[in-house]
Amino acid sequence: MTSISTEAAISINGLCKTYQGGKRALDGVTFDVPRGQIFGLLGPNGAGKSTLINILAGLVNKTEGSASIWGFDIDAHPRNAKASIGIVNQEILFDPFFTPVETLEIQAGLYGVPKKDRRSLDLLRAVHLEDKANAYARTLSGGMKRRLMVAKAMVHSPPVLVLDEPTAGVDIELRQQLWAYVRELNAGGVTVVLTTHYLEEAEQLCDRIAIINHGRLIANEPTRDLVGRAQEKVVAVTVDRDLTAAPEAPCFEKIVLKGARVLEITYSKARVNAGEVLAAVQAAGVGIVDVSTREPDLEDVFLSLTRSTAD
Ligand code: ADP
Ligand code: MG
Repeated sequence: MTSISTEAAISINGLCKTYQGGKRALDGVTFDVPRGQIFGLLGPNGAGKSTLINILAGLVNKTEGSASIWGFDIDAHPRNAKASIGIVNQEILFDPFFTPVETLEIQAGLYGVPKKDRRSLDLLRAVHLEDKANAYARTLSGGMKRRLMVAKAMVHSPPVLVLDEPTAGVDIELRQQLWAYVRELNAGGVTVVLTTHYLEEAEQLCDRIAIINHGRLIANEPTRDLVGRAQEKVVAVTVDRDLTAAPEAPCFEKIVLKGARVLEITYSKARVNAGEVLAAVQAAGVGIVDVSTREPDLEDVFLSLTRSTAD
């Protein structure tokens, strides 16, 4: 298959979706997923992530805008677009009466993969399901089903793999295995897009992160830049006496009593500095024994970005 020359694995332009009943799930979203990356699409529940993925998958009709996958416009070249992408949906969907091997063979058949090019057992091995190859799908655990879905998405060897909330209901060990496999695929040249509302996950895995909230793109940057752009900082202050309530001051974005003598204060570095924050603690009549700050993580970035665009 030849593709139209383009740098992007996925290109999304002015994408809008209004569901029947009037819910506007996507409101003019534009971004590219560069080839070869692990790309994170982040956003809280209801942000529009699955809507966007389901448009790419051909499961939801967009209202406005355009999208292309590996250079193929989803309207003009739907078959090529579809062949270029493997999608693991948020919901687990299987025919419970087929075994994992049968599930993969049927999927390969649907995608027109010739028998000689099928690699069902290799795929099952890659997702650590080789010993379940001939078990009924209904006997698999939630984590196993999720991994089978990943294998199913890869039967036609697409250059782009999209995982929609892949770790929902997957325990930590399996999550690690899933990520190891995702990294392996990526190292082999597959562009990976994953949606999640777990920021830590995205921070660890993704080269680049886009954030959507209320159907709008609010950030799209290399992960490192995004983390560095945090407007909020957190300082932990150990005080000289037991407190029953946290003091209040206008320069605190948030203050939490973390044990009788530790206050965790979030402040906006655009508005105040650490000195002013500490002065406000002392002004409340509390002595300071110790202070520690931590670097903002993605959680902080996300909170400050979503807060500033909240409607
Ligand atoms: P996310 O995946 O980020 O959690 P979704 O794309 O699932 O968000 O949903 C975005 C918004 O669209 C939500 O407000 C959701 O309730 C709404 N929505 C999703 N699917 C439908 C649908 N089939 N009909 C009507 N509204 C929907
Ligand atoms: Mg979703």
